[in-house]
Amino acid sequence: MLIDRIDVMRFLKYDVIILGSGIGGFTTAIHASNFDKKAKIAVISKLHAMRSHSVSAEGGISGVLYPQINKDSEKLHAYDTIKGSDYLSDQDAVELLVKNAPKEIVFFEHLGVPWNRNEKGIIQERPFGGMSVPRTAFAADKTGFFMMRSLYDQVQSLPNVDIFHEHFATRIFRTKDAVGVFTIDLATGKHSVVYGSSLVIGTGGFSRIYKITTTAHSTTGDGIALAYNAGASLKDVEFVQFHPTALVPNGILITEAARGEGGYLLNKDNERFMKRYASSKMELAPRDIISRAIITEINEGRGMKDKDSGLEYVYLDLRHLGKEVINKRLPMIKEICIKTIGLNPEEEPIPVRPAAHFTMGGLNTDINGRVLDIELNHVSNLWGVGECGCVSVHGANRLGSNSLSQCSVWGRIVGKEVSNNTHEIKNEDVKELEVLAEAEDSRLKEMLSKKGMYTVYELQDEMKDVMEKYFYVYRNEKEMKKGVALLEKILKKSANLRIEDKTHIFNTNLRDTLEFLNQIELAYAVGVAAYNRKESRGAHSRTDHPKRDDKAWLKHTILAKEGSGIKISYSDVKITKWEPEERKY
Ligand SMILES: Cc1cc2nc3c(=O)[nH]c(=O)nc-3n(C[C@H](O)[C@H](O)[C@H](O)COP(=O)(O)OP(=O)(O)OC[C@H]3O[C@@H](n4cnc5c(N)ncnc54)[C@H](O)[C@@H]3O)c2cc1C
Repeated sequence: MLIDRIDVMRFLKYDVIILGSGIGGFTTAIHASNFDKKAKIAVISKLHAMRSHSVSAEGGISGVLYPQINKDSEKLHAYDTIKGSDYLSDQDAVELLVKNAPKEIVFFEHLGVPWNRNEKGIIQERPFGGMSVPRTAFAADKTGFFMMRSLYDQVQSLPNVDIFHEHFATRIFRTKDAVGVFTIDLATGKHSVVYGSSLVIGTGGFSRIYKITTTAHSTTGDGIALAYNAGASLKDVEFVQFHPTALVPNGILITEAARGEGGYLLNKDNERFMKRYASSKMELAPRDIISRAIITEINEGRGMKDKDSGLEYVYLDLRHLGKEVINKRLPMIKEICIKTIGLNPEEEPIPVRPAAHFTMGGLNTDINGRVLDIELNHVSNLWGVGECGCVSVHGANRLGSNSLSQCSVWGRIVGKEVSNNTHEIKNEDVKELEVLAEAEDSRLKEMLSKKGMYTVYELQDEMKDVMEKYFYVYRNEKEMKKGVALLEKILKKSANLRIEDKTHIFNTNLRDTLEFLNQIELAYAVGVAAYNRKESRGAHSRTDHPKRDDKAWLKHTILAKEGSGIKISYSDVKITKWEPEERKY
């Protein structure tokens, strides 16, 4: 039975609306609530909050906890991060990250995260790629799960925070003084507008534009695309991180901690090939370098091939670590290998290849997480936090374990910011929101009734094939030109979609279609940004421009919507102490 949903549409007023309940969104909610106990806060999540992608974070969170014991310093953490970013990170943001990360690890300790400890009782830190010393705190290989569980418990105890589970945001509205989000309650199909003074986007990355990815199905970049359509600009979206060790054939992540614990990468000749690419760091070189090394091995005939999927791979060998290390430090990796491909890593090497894992780019934000437009002005009342907010700490290549610190550090910063932004919402703003909501309601009805030519699943497959083929680890002008043209075609076809399920209760066909419309917009943006950057830097590696070119390209790519097309601009990279130098490991 079709319901005339405009009749039942709810208008819910809050002071702070947080879109996303991952580590970024939840930490923002806790800090906003602490800074202003009277603020009414809504957290909206298209999933049950505890299914947010952050639960799958494995290896750990970076932060200098014991400088004396580990011979570490904030300065060294900053240097590693900036060098790892191939000098594209904004150094003032990196300095803020490294200064505050240790405090956030202690904050999670107080929330109840069971960090691994040594026999003296101090929190253990493990080595991670591109880090000079061990500085990654961890809870076995289930760090994200434990962090999310403690955050969820805490958020539930806050009387001024409401969680809207399984509410899918389809549009962001902005009026003079208000911001609003149009949502579908997936369980009932009912529409709501949640509006208020401040909106924080914490919807994660968009690696699901690729075919093979380590990320959850939900990682479709919705909030980035919605804000982009509401006037926000995008930054550095061409930099997509390919994690070197995704399990073949299913793409599930084999955490970098497996190499941190001493795992080897081997080619078909049983050779530790990393000696040719990063002789000092070997398997603990940054991810962009290892991914290129693996693809080079494969391209030069030293890989292996999975018969069923046709995917080529190399080996990650953990056998020499022994049962005790594998069972104590990497229990989930063992379980994943046994349960999904029937391989016990204590006895056999693991087949791995690079897969899309993290998006360094996203919403263009300033150092306080405020979203910017293409002129670098604030987009009023809008913030970005977590993976979706490009505050530029990761630059062209993120170091593993720096994302959870970024989510936590900026959760606190943005929580404080929004607690200072509560203001009156006038009647005229509410009236305008009502008009915008009716238009959105009509758009959704139209989508459901349209007899379009394509299903979302056909076009999504086409998009993923294009991304995998033309915008993978190595890129070049000729291929990317083809890729951009194909993405343009898919974009055009996406106006002609057919939704076959017309019902309202958990209409996953409608949800998938809305997600795809966000994905294709971002895939096109990645294509345009990558095509235009004529150099190799971090994860953007071009065979036709193999060198980094600081003279021409030490700058951020900024994109904004212009009609149905894209406007492109560039902005300066903030250098504070570390002048760009050759990146050697
Ligand atoms: C397998 C894996 C392991 C990782 N391990 C580590 C690690 O050990 N250390 C590290 O630093 N980093 C790690 N990362 C990266 C890190 O986990 C992520 O960058 C981080 O968890 C992202 O958190 P987030 O809060 O930004 O978003 P997410 O956790 O992705 O949450 C996004 C939220 O947005 C909501 N949402 C999205 N779209 C909508 C919509 N349309 N309407 C309503 N709600 C919406 C979702 O429901 C969800 O609540 C890993 C990544 C992967 C893929």
